[in-house]
Amino acid sequence: MKLAVYGYTEYGIRILYKLLEKKDVDQVIFVDNNVSKIGTKTDNIGVVSLYSFLRMYQQKEILKIIIPDYSLSTIRSMKNDLRKNGVKAEDVLIVETKSFIEKLEGLVKFSDYKCYKVPFVQYLSFEASEKCNLNCKRCDHFSNLIDNDNQESADEFTHDLELLSSKIERIGTFSFLGGEPLLNTDLYKLIYVVKSYYPDTQIIVLTNGLLLKQISTELVQAIKETQTIVRMTLYPPMKDKIDDIVQFMRNKEIKFELSKAVDEFWTQLNIEGNSDSHKMLNKCVNSDCFVLKKGKLAKCPITMNISIFNNYFRTEIPQDVLDLSDDSITPEVIHEYLYNPIKTCAYCGREKYYEWERTSGKVKVEEMLCADKIV
Ligand code: SF4
Repeated sequence: MKLAVYGYTEYGIRILYKLLEKKDVDQVIFVDNNVSKIGTKTDNIGVVSLYSFLRMYQQKEILKIIIPDYSLSTIRSMKNDLRKNGVKAEDVLIVETKSFIEKLEGLVKFSDYKCYKVPFVQYLSFEASEKCNLNCKRCDHFSNLIDNDNQESADEFTHDLELLSSKIERIGTFSFLGGEPLLNTDLYKLIYVVKSYYPDTQIIVLTNGLLLKQISTELVQAIKETQTIVRMTLYPPMKDKIDDIVQFMRNKEIKFELSKAVDEFWTQLNIEGNSDSHKMLNKCVNSDCFVLKKGKLAKCPITMNISIFNNYFRTEIPQDVLDLSDDSITPEVIHEYLYNPIKTCAYCGREKYYEWERTSGKVKVEEMLCADKIV
């Protein structure tokens, strides 16, 4: 069997040598887009361009390609490269390097490697609160379009994690967001729930920061005990408060990060539904921002929350999510769903940029639409 590993990197090298120990693996090559690496050889193992790999894949000389746990944007761009060039989901394996190597260690042949769960997703988010205290206009979670906050209880969230962990083995980063996650007074309980199911996962609380100085002692303790990172998005109303909040976070010894200033928002919905969904997905920056909510898994916040948009504007954009409680949702089905376009992708289009503003009064549908369809 001949295999490829995407990326001539430290992770890639570790995986490649472990694969070569397997009895049924004759050859493994590296695939890399970095021109300085293409054509180099180590121990007679070559690094080829994506295009050479594609030729070998089409001629069935290489059967599968393995992507290690790189950053979210790197994995997204690798998946896009493969998908748009016709590499099927079933031939792409995205893994967490350490656990993949541990699994291979116990096997004589690579063909004995079986995925009883999806091995790895780099990023998953959960809306701890649907409501927001900032109410940005054109929020792509549509938090500004709802009246009631349908927060999940800690018990419901535990049930979600029970379902999720039966289908997905490892998660790189689990992000609590919203709306504004600090509006959920049980957030500290939810953080412990994630740690109990996914102890190695990095937890992030993504907040607009305005409520940070009022957080409870329980939440401070949970954040510190679980090494959670608080990531603040620097929206315009935060700018004259940020020095004060940074000092507060330092005093509390909480790990935090600050995004660069967000002065613009974009809209990307196309209610005509006439975009080319493959082309749209290839350029979408939200495509691997997977979302968990009420036992469902979604490829992006837009499809997860599209019913809020539909209710507000009386539109009928299709939602396309997976019900994790459904026994027919196997790891293969989840992997296919996360790899390929979904029904909602035809309802996205070229982004239209606006200066950031808060919502005031009734929002008009034309203020939420993309610049153009993608064809
Ligand atoms: S529906 Fe598709 S194109 Fe639109 S945001 Fe989600 S993944 Fe991206």
